[in-house]
Amino acid sequence: MLNHNIETFIGCDCAYQEADTVLFGAPFDSTTSFRPGARFGSRAIRSESFGLETYSPYQQADLMDCAVLDSGDLELPFGAPKRALAGIRERTAIILADGKRPFLLGGEHLVTLGAVQAVIQRHPDLRIIHFDAHADLRQEYLGEELSHACVLRRCWELLGDGRIHQFGIRSGDREEFQWAKEHVATRLFDFEGLDRTLAGLGAAPVYLTVDLDVLDPSVFPGTGTPEAGGVSFQALLDAVLQVCQRANIAACDVNELAPIYDPSGGSTAAACKLVREMLIALSK
Ligand code: MN
Ligand code: MN
Repeated sequence: MLNHNIETFIGCDCAYQEADTVLFGAPFDSTTSFRPGARFGSRAIRSESFGLETYSPYQQADLMDCAVLDSGDLELPFGAPKRALAGIRERTAIILADGKRPFLLGGEHLVTLGAVQAVIQRHPDLRIIHFDAHADLRQEYLGEELSHACVLRRCWELLGDGRIHQFGIRSGDREEFQWAKEHVATRLFDFEGLDRTLAGLGAAPVYLTVDLDVLDPSVFPGTGTPEAGGVSFQALLDAVLQVCQRANIAACDVNELAPIYDPSGGSTAAACKLVREMLIALSK
């Protein structure tokens, strides 16, 4: 049982007992390799969501009609990734045990690992759909295995071969790309083949992880590791809606917004809109 929270993502203040989806934030960025700030992502998404309408013209549906509770941010120990992941794992497990769908707001991308650790306990046949500019498949980064640059490699250790489907990837080292060929499905640069992937997944439980730096830095500069040549907001929205509507989503996350790098607020607004659309699509 989680406490009722009044400072929520817009329209997401359903009673816990009635909620189908439960949002929570993981304000953590202590392994960020380049520019820190993702720890402020979830809070910014929550407060800036009030600039949005709850109604979606894309889906002709209203977030107010969806059973979502935003349960607030976890309190996480900085510089202690193991304990931070344990906190995320625990919150995810509680939400799953209560028959609800966890929706995690990062934070840096490492936070995904804590959620996936909990989800795979319930769904051993889990698949991951991963949108990102970066492959995140390194064995270690700067001597650290618990790094956002290694997060999908850590997930692979739990899932095994052929169960991670990456899209939009445009950065990684030579070893990562060679390793990827044997173990995961990597689509470079865009979302081509997503339709086929979803058809192949059928009813299998899916974890969707969206690293917002998959977007082009011209529309989303507010992130720790901007990577030129990304997708448009519309392309990402189309892809995310397809996944949320067609896949059997067990849990999901949106991560790597670092609001301080975009004083215009445009990056945070993009993140908010994507979260609204995902919440509506998931509840349909
Ligand atoms: Mn990432
Ligand atoms: Mn990335």
